[in-house]
Amino acid sequence: MSFINFKCKKCGSCCHNLLEEVANVERGLFLRVEEAKLFPRNLVSPRMALGDSKPKRIIAYQLNVDECPFITEKNECKVYPKRPMGCRMFPFEIHHNGHATVSVKCSVIGSQMGDKESREIEFSSTEKEAIEEYMRFLNSLQKFARPSQKVWEFNLKTKSWFTA
Ligand code: SF4
Ligand code: SF4
Repeated sequence: MSFINFKCKKCGSCCHNLLEEVANVERGLFLRVEEAKLFPRNLVSPRMALGDSKPKRIIAYQLNVDECPFITEKNECKVYPKRPMGCRMFPFEIHHNGHATVSVKCSVIGSQMGDKESREIEFSSTEKEAIEEYMRFLNSLQKFARPSQKVWEFNLKTKSWFTA
């Protein structure tokens, strides 16, 4: 097994290409409730909600545009110290079903993956801390868990909620 040594090149590409479509579901930059307040309201849509027969309690939001309003012409982040967990975690992604993926949208990952389906990846402490933070977020959902309660996701493409 070979390693990818991930070191961000600060190319800014991820901040210019935030929307992602997989299996007809379009998602934007993941935002926790408090992080959504950093962004203009019209650029933010719901991302995840809990509810029995319909989504009731919104537990996460997402940016609904491809380019972040905080990226400068020099590819610097205007809110770097406060940037959302999803930015600090990128290119590592964990989904609420427990699946973990790494984004080949990142040029560093894309160039090192080649035709391999998987490789071990060495991350910096920043990404590890953000991943741990996200795991804590997922664990915190347990307190709302009821047998009838489902996790709903919002599809930016169809502007509608769905549940697995
Ligand atoms: S908040 Fe900063 S790091 Fe995150 S997408 Fe926007 S510019 Fe990029
Ligand atoms: S695409 Fe990858 S290398 Fe470029 S800024 Fe984003 S994380 Fe860094």
